[in-house]
Amino acid sequence: MIRSVGHRCRQQLLGSIDTCLSADEEPGLCPVCGGARWYVQKTRVRHGRTLAHGQFQARETVRVCASGCHHAGGLPVTRGAGSLTQHLPPSSLVGYDVIVRVGLERFLRHRQRHEICSTIENEAGIRVSTGEVSELSRRFVHYLARLHQARAERLKGALANDGGWPMHVDATGEDGRGTLLLVMAGWRQWVPGAWKISTERADLILPCLRETVRHFGVPCAAMRDLGRAMTPAIDDLVGELELAIPVLACHQHFLADVGKDLLEPSYAELRGLFRRAKVRPKLRTLVRELGRKLGPGIEEARQAVRQWQSMAEGGHDIESGDTGLAIVRAVAQWTLDYQARASGLDYPFDRPYLDLYERCSTARRATEAFLRAPPEDKKVESALERLHRYLAPVQGELPFRQTTERLRRRAALFDELRGVLRLATISEQDETEQDLHRMREKLDEPVASLKKRRPERGPARDIREAIDIVLKHIEAHGANLRGHAIRLPERVGGGVRLVFRTNFPVENFFGQLKHDERRRSGRKNLTRDLEQLPAEAALVYNLEHADYVTLVCGSLDRLAEAFAHLDLDRREMRLKGLPCADRQQDLASELQMVSASLSKADRRVIRNEEMDRRVAAVARSRAPHRRH
Ligand SMILES: [Zn+2]
Repeated sequence: MIRSVGHRCRQQLLGSIDTCLSADEEPGLCPVCGGARWYVQKTRVRHGRTLAHGQFQARETVRVCASGCHHAGGLPVTRGAGSLTQHLPPSSLVGYDVIVRVGLERFLRHRQRHEICSTIENEAGIRVSTGEVSELSRRFVHYLARLHQARAERLKGALANDGGWPMHVDATGEDGRGTLLLVMAGWRQWVPGAWKISTERADLILPCLRETVRHFGVPCAAMRDLGRAMTPAIDDLVGELELAIPVLACHQHFLADVGKDLLEPSYAELRGLFRRAKVRPKLRTLVRELGRKLGPGIEEARQAVRQWQSMAEGGHDIESGDTGLAIVRAVAQWTLDYQARASGLDYPFDRPYLDLYERCSTARRATEAFLRAPPEDKKVESALERLHRYLAPVQGELPFRQTTERLRRRAALFDELRGVLRLATISEQDETEQDLHRMREKLDEPVASLKKRRPERGPARDIREAIDIVLKHIEAHGANLRGHAIRLPERVGGGVRLVFRTNFPVENFFGQLKHDERRRSGRKNLTRDLEQLPAEAALVYNLEHADYVTLVCGSLDRLAEAFAHLDLDRREMRLKGLPCADRQQDLASELQMVSASLSKADRRVIRNEEMDRRVAAVARSRAPHRRH
């Protein structure tokens, strides 16, 4: 009925006119006495907006059992319109289906608020303000978190049927303002839990991990970075639950850690040397000035450079005129383009300053070759000399040479270790148990070989120190670098399944989350957006996994229905007088108690005049010394 009226006057609906209906339903039998006699207690008007019905106004008749029955919780037995509670959350004007739609558009499709408003207006003919969209997004996340909790047993069962779940833990923040802690079930890539914590600290992480294990079962492995907070948190969890599972350190983090310790002193020195010599600014000035000189002829000059590139080797002569200048300019540009050698990984896997050094040396040798038979054109010669002069310190100065030699030596050692862990060479998905086995053996090899190569005394102090750094790291983390092959229990068919060797699944998740938020907000700086984003928003990403959706609500179309059932169940509990424990709430307050930062609740208590006066008074008072 509502739909038919709604279609006819959608435009009026968008104005102010509601479709009116009467919601007077057959009350059935009293659940307490089984009687069928009811009195009308009251009629009340409820306004509503749903995608299914549009905007309406319902006159609801509420009845009370004629025998005056009461529920176990003490409330009288009443009957309203079930058709309304099925679509509208308690004391809400907007239906479950609107909440779901807004939530999915916001968190899965990353649409902006005004886009969501117009989508809903166009499709359902109801108006939702941008402010409401924000509020409905929050409610969506809250409902989804409740559903996630309510379905924990089912999810746990599915994870157990896989033979357990490898627990990946990581945290991310933006500008140090609050941290998003996330647990991921590696094989299914579900997010069992996500929390906001004030800082990355073990005593804040541990309760969250405990909570996750309580709801989703014991993991079959744990993967973490080498952080000062993560390491003890996971060790404590494994200890207190007496788990016999491998605790794995992310190979990528391990390598980065070794790499930084190996390279940083020399690398920082090289960076400083380049800055002091001002090589790059000088080269950039030269490129600019030559570009200006070439002026409109620059395209022709580019052609000439291409021509020069295609020439056979050995030609040390440089042409006169614009072509010559263009070649000098191209060599300077090539030197500055050292980033082209980067593989896309961060330092210490890439060493950009070392690349810059290599390019400077090569370019300098090239200019020397050119100058051996000086160009006839004086302008070209002077440009070439300038380039040569700017590059001179790199090749000529002792500190440059010593630093890069040390850096190269250590980088080679690092790359050797990298080769053993073979992170870049094979994609983790394609790894086999044999691959891992080989890697494990190879990890023992370098330890032996490094120990052999380590010069006990003598001038090779640097190489000795470098080898010690590597050995120290392997000694400290070696136990956490192996154990990725998980034997599955017989009840799930046995066999072996591999755990990822890096925390890539979680890091990728964070990257995606930030990318999505950036796209939605159009802001590059996400500090504020991430601060306002509820931690449970991470759970929404679970809806991208069909296996998860099937378990929590069957299909996305039935998500609204599942939300409605949550409220119904909660109401049942209340009528029966049973407490509906909100575990999330408990954990949130536990986290706040542990945190050292002043919570809002605490601030209200201590930031007032009474507190000031009281503390001052105590300080002034001369309390007698008590003897024990
Ligand atoms: Zn009754």
